Amino acid sequence: MTKPTAHYIDGVWESALGRPLIEVDNPADGSLVGAVVAGDARDADRAVEAARRAFPGWAATPLAERIALIERMAAGIERERDRLAGLLSAEMGAPIGFARAAQVGVALADLAALAAAARDHEHATAVSNSLVVSEPAGVVVAITPWNFPLHQIVLKVGGALLAGCTVVLKPSEIAPLNAAALARILHDAGAPPGVVNVVFGDGAGVGEPLAAHPGVDLVTFTGSRAVGERIAVVAAANITRVALELGGKSAAIVLDDASVADSVAGVLRSCFANSGQTCAALTRVLVPASMLDEWTRAAVAASADWQPGDPGVEGTAIGPLASQTQLQRVRDHIAAAIDDGAELLAGGLDAPSGLAGGAYVRPTIFGGVTPSMRLFREEVFGPVLAVTAYDSLDEAVALANDSDYGLSGGVWSADARRALDVALRLRTGTVGINGAGLDVGAPFGGYKQSGVGRECGAAGLAEFFETKSVMGAASLA
Ligand code: NAD
Repeated sequence: MTKPTAHYIDGVWESALGRPLIEVDNPADGSLVGAVVAGDARDADRAVEAARRAFPGWAATPLAERIALIERMAAGIERERDRLAGLLSAEMGAPIGFARAAQVGVALADLAALAAAARDHEHATAVSNSLVVSEPAGVVVAITPWNFPLHQIVLKVGGALLAGCTVVLKPSEIAPLNAAALARILHDAGAPPGVVNVVFGDGAGVGEPLAAHPGVDLVTFTGSRAVGERIAVVAAANITRVALELGGKSAAIVLDDASVADSVAGVLRSCFANSGQTCAALTRVLVPASMLDEWTRAAVAASADWQPGDPGVEGTAIGPLASQTQLQRVRDHIAAAIDDGAELLAGGLDAPSGLAGGAYVRPTIFGGVTPSMRLFREEVFGPVLAVTAYDSLDEAVALANDSDYGLSGGVWSADARRALDVALRLRTGTVGINGAGLDVGAPFGGYKQSGVGRECGAAGLAEFFETKSVMGAASLA
């Protein structure tokens, strides 16, 4: 194990000596990967103060220099792709190939899209009699989870820096080591002291003191709905703006003219990749009653391609869940679905053979899932698919929209126009047609209890601006 990692505040790596630590375990076998300091409210204060001091200088730094820093950061990530992928795989269980291509790859795509948006952004425009100006929002607190940790961090840190904000990052205590590696990359890329600060610790120790801090202008959070609500409550005491990317229970609608093979492959990929730990995963599938038998038989057969294995081995489809806690949560959801009377078609509670000891769960498919069952309504955050039959298209749309969440959705049809008509009826922030996945250039975020605000590209960058109208100055645009 490497030395424990302490906070990065005001451009300095602090000492971990004598500090309480949080150990980071490999969920594949429980081995120790590393440790970070368990910070407290005083660490949060020092980091916010450093970000406050750095703000005027960074806000006044020309856009071209801010973009250049992000480009050097991206080059550093590219140079260290293998090391970052290894860290991610060890701390949260993603298979090494997936970590390299998807976890690190999507972070690079995020930064390219944000930098392009910053280049194109109109910082001053004439509106009516006014000059309307975008200004950086100020000090940003970014609180992130463990499922796509690098992606979630760069969307927040990259967007904030490009807009001219300074940042305090609190990464997930389950997977904090990639954040430490990223801070080193930013330091080496020449980020001025205090522009980016990283404070390690758990939600109660550091996350909440940061969200409640009066010196913070914007809190951007990705994670569970419950913690999102808590952050909104504590931030409200200072009327601090919040951006929240929360969970989902997203539905795929298979239309009666869709290819069974294509829709099965696409739904399983969305639901099972990253061991089902994807907020926008399609975890409910709505299938015409006339196609149900054929579709479920094909899905059960195809689930054999998604068996878990050692994440360190190239070609492994899915690794373990991110932690033993997450394994227990997912097993509880599977047990609840069985209790509620759903029909277990594949997978289930038994550990996959030969993998006992790790946080492994078998990809699981339930049939006969109805809206009264917990599996229809609650986010599992594991590889568990709920299949529900429908008779009419209106019923399918009503079932898809029968959710407190509204993050994503999918529609499969041989007729793209027909699929679009259905997509436009879904109350969700994104919808993929025939398997189209995350588009980092387009806005990403949720309706209803899936969140507030948007990330990715121009819409994601816009979250980090304040808007000022200088009245009487339109002619100076
Ligand atoms: P979480 O919401 O508990 O934690 C996310 C981040 O918030 C972590 O950095 C955590 O330390 C911090 N945090 C926790 N309590 C806090 C508080 N009171 N104030 C401020 N910060 C706080 O998520 P998790 O434990 O990582 O995962 C739990 C569940 O969240 C999952 O099972 C899943 O349902 C959901 N989840 C959703 C997403 C998503 O992208 N939408 C991502 C990860 C997890």
